[in-house]
Amino acid sequence: MTSTKIEFDVIIIGAGMAGSTAGAIAARNGQKTAIIERAQTPGGKNYFGGALYTHALQEIYPDFWDRKPPLERPITETGFWFLSEDGVVKATVQGGKINNNPIDAFVAQRAEFDAWWAAQAEAEGAFIIPKTLVTDFLYENGRVVGVQTDRPEGEVYAPVVIITEGVNNLLTQKLGLIDHDLKPERTALAVKQLISLKPDLINSRLGLVDIDHGAALSVVGDVSMGLPGLGFLYTGKRSISLGVGVTLDALREARIKPYELLQRYLEHPAIAPIIADGQLMEYGAHLIPEGGWNDMPTLFTDGVLVAGDAAAMVNAIHWEGTNMAIIAGKEAALTAVEAHKKGDFSARTLSGYRTRLKDRFILKDLRQYRKMSAFLHKNPDFMDIYPSFLNDAMGQFFTGFGKPKREVYRDILRSLTGRRSLFRAAGDIISLGRAVLGI
Ligand SMILES: Cc1cc2nc3c(=O)[nH]c(=O)nc-3n(C[C@H](O)[C@H](O)[C@H](O)COP(=O)(O)OP(=O)(O)OC[C@H]3O[C@@H](n4cnc5c(N)ncnc54)[C@H](O)[C@@H]3O)c2cc1C
Repeated sequence: MTSTKIEFDVIIIGAGMAGSTAGAIAARNGQKTAIIERAQTPGGKNYFGGALYTHALQEIYPDFWDRKPPLERPITETGFWFLSEDGVVKATVQGGKINNNPIDAFVAQRAEFDAWWAAQAEAEGAFIIPKTLVTDFLYENGRVVGVQTDRPEGEVYAPVVIITEGVNNLLTQKLGLIDHDLKPERTALAVKQLISLKPDLINSRLGLVDIDHGAALSVVGDVSMGLPGLGFLYTGKRSISLGVGVTLDALREARIKPYELLQRYLEHPAIAPIIADGQLMEYGAHLIPEGGWNDMPTLFTDGVLVAGDAAAMVNAIHWEGTNMAIIAGKEAALTAVEAHKKGDFSARTLSGYRTRLKDRFILKDLRQYRKMSAFLHKNPDFMDIYPSFLNDAMGQFFTGFGKPKREVYRDILRSLTGRRSLFRAAGDIISLGRAVLGI
């Protein structure tokens, strides 16, 4: 008995944010599209902080809101919390631009959202193949012509393969599109808990008006114990998501276990009362590729395109990853459609993908922030010194009652110079500015 060759126009590896977007766009443009996903259902192996961004969701589905997406709270308050050992300075914003209609960012649970996002791709005509691991590529005359999966007789053919395999980019490495494994100094391990809590308690503890108001906080300082990293807090409708992400090499050098870091964060006096009496719903760890520009693989080769975390498309400072994955998935799919029109799947034709990305925020931002992870790596005490100084300074300013104010300012200055000389502090500001502006 001879088995029939399974053929598609486009194969996509992974039904995450990038993969299901690429699948929807390719199918919408008439391509016979397969999305191969190793998990039982799309999203089954995924979680994040985290927020999804309206601009990207609406770019793919202009009628996004009519589709009744499974989102949690809109983010109506956002900003930084700077933790010292026993205090917090809060710098958050609400109202004004944050009040756009629709709101710019929404909290989501990925297990639920990814399954829904994949179902939208399916409705466009993409064929989802779950519970299937892509293990290798199929070649003809040295060019990729499909993928090998872990199913019996699991060869699937297509002239274009879009790799959207996420942060563990083993297949991208296998093709030689990048010459190194994840770099421990530019890869963060994020550990998080999802804690269920009554909506009224979430609202009263975080000062939110009702279930239609939500907070997204980046937490800096004592949360990472002086290591290069960030904490986060996001409010769902009936849950709070809290986590910490720190680079792998810093964790190893400091011999700190990620769950100890998380536990310490959850016990912080500014955090513990917020989650008191909550029930643990989910606990897990996930990698974040923070290398961005420096760890980007070659984005295309004959018959292949790479998008999303697999291509290190994450801006960790702004928590932007899903929107980059969605837009890159879309641009990869449109490039594949163009290649089909031309009947040419060479790297030359597929290089149009890079040109498309250059016009978007993705390559612009990743290039601009290319020095950021090296900056944080070289200046880990940045994460410790300034948040604790800020707490001291604000504390002194607002308790200097009955004291000559010149003394208050002198004490504030001393609290800085006790940590960092003025010369080094000025240097820190200049270095931070250069890292942010990419100059
Ligand atoms: C703790 C944390 C918080 C975050 N917070 C935010 C946030 O607030 N906002 C934001 O925008 N981003 C955030 N991110 C980043 C964001 O989650 C990612 O950038 C985004 O999910 C990348 O999408 P992707 O499609 O490239 O990869 P993924 O969503 O990881 O999808 C990859 C898919 O490929 C599948 N797969 C992998 N290998 C194979 C294979 N060989 N065969 C078949 N299937 C395979 C996986 O199972 C998975 O479904 C956060 C990340 C973490 C870890």
